[in-house]
Amino acid sequence: MGTCPGAPEPRRGNHPRVVLPSTSPLRAGLVVVQPLRRKHCAACRRGPLPLLVLEDGVPRCLACADLGHLVFLPRGDTALTRRSREESALWAVVVRFNRRRGRYERQGLLVEEEALARAESRCLADAEARRRRRARDARRRAAQDARFAEAFATQIRLLFPGCPPDRAGAIAAHASERGSGRVGRSAAGRALSEGAVTCAVIASVRHLDTPYDRLLMDGVARHEARRRIAADVEAVLRGWREAVGTAAAAQSPITGTEAAMKPTVRTDIAG
Ligand SMILES: [Zn+2]
Repeated sequence: MGTCPGAPEPRRGNHPRVVLPSTSPLRAGLVVVQPLRRKHCAACRRGPLPLLVLEDGVPRCLACADLGHLVFLPRGDTALTRRSREESALWAVVVRFNRRRGRYERQGLLVEEEALARAESRCLADAEARRRRRARDARRRAAQDARFAEAFATQIRLLFPGCPPDRAGAIAAHASERGSGRVGRSAAGRALSEGAVTCAVIASVRHLDTPYDRLLMDGVARHEARRRIAADVEAVLRGWREAVGTAAAAQSPITGTEAAMKPTVRTDIAG
């Protein structure tokens, strides 16, 4: 991408016949050219040359330029390119003239084979380190999720003491599933607000303890279906709130239940 800073420009930039740099390629590092036209080595006469070096304006093959032992690394892998250069005592930039753009463009590097091997293993080690870090992150997130679901379940049991513990656990796990966009992942859910927790419980009751899903399958409009099952949902919630005569149950007055049933918008996001 872009011009090669090490590549000399043709003397007459807009002249289409000029395909090789006419100034010294050694001006800024070693430059090897992929010629557009058939060129032969001025020293050993070999050719046409796939790659050549210009010395004093005349082409030489890589062997005659003492670069024959280098291997070509095409451009594209930035990290591998940088490391190959770092590892290589001798390296050269490979350029080709782009006629349409009127400039030399970098094609890759010539580097020592062992340097390339070392660079490749460094990149592999990096990839392995990244893989291990991702695994660590995933484990940490899973632990966070488990703690959060547990706290969510505890909050459900606090608001609904009569809710069976495994049911509370299932509701909490479902609502807080990562990437689900469910209520447990919302800001209110993460803060374990009473409204959010109640939304999750209502969603579960609606689907499992009422004929809501069957009504939807039968083609009943969602709001009509919700209206028909509202009493069923309320009955289950009331039972769960009052089932155990604990302090937590006493803390949930009737108005709390009504408040939980009112916000239809909020219950929508729980479904
Ligand atoms: Zn030669």
